Amino acid sequence: MQTTLVIFKPDCVLRGLVGEILARFEKRGLKIVAIKKMKLSTELLTEHYGHLKDKPFFPGIVAAMQRTPVIVLALRGVNAAEVARKMAGATNARDAEVGTIRGDLAVSIQNNLVHISDSPESAEIEVKRFFTAEELVDPADEELGVLYSKDELN
Ligand code: ADP
Repeated sequence: MQTTLVIFKPDCVLRGLVGEILARFEKRGLKIVAIKKMKLSTELLTEHYGHLKDKPFFPGIVAAMQRTPVIVLALRGVNAAEVARKMAGATNARDAEVGTIRGDLAVSIQNNLVHISDSPESAEIEVKRFFTAEELVDPADEELGVLYSKDELN
């Protein structure tokens, strides 16, 4: 079982797509273990997007992520990091497969609606970056029991 980080970016908030995208995760069976609205500081964004800080478009990303407050979620499930990442589609929404969030709802490389941790290792770091342990509330066994076989949960 993994917990992964999702951010509904300002373009998602501004376009009123939070509910639609949240519904996709809920219908798929990823369980919300934390959700909150927050303003992202330049310091937090510089840490979060550290791998891009020398790119010419980095100031543009920071500005785009600070246009509005964002909605941050932690989602839990078996292989949740990979499942959620596949649901997002390619970074450049124009290349994203139809059926993915970006492939259905976006056309931009920058304004691609969601951030999703790119691996189980990143997910672990990123969930801790945005949430305290007290904010994470695991689903009840019954919620998982309708989604998975007993073997998958062991
Ligand atoms: P992902 O969000 O798919 O994990 P990256 O970590 O490579 O992708 O990039 C982080 C974010 O930076 C992207 O989601 C996108 O908003 C923005 N970004 C990436 N590449 C570019 C680019 N060439 N021009 C503008 N913005 C970009």
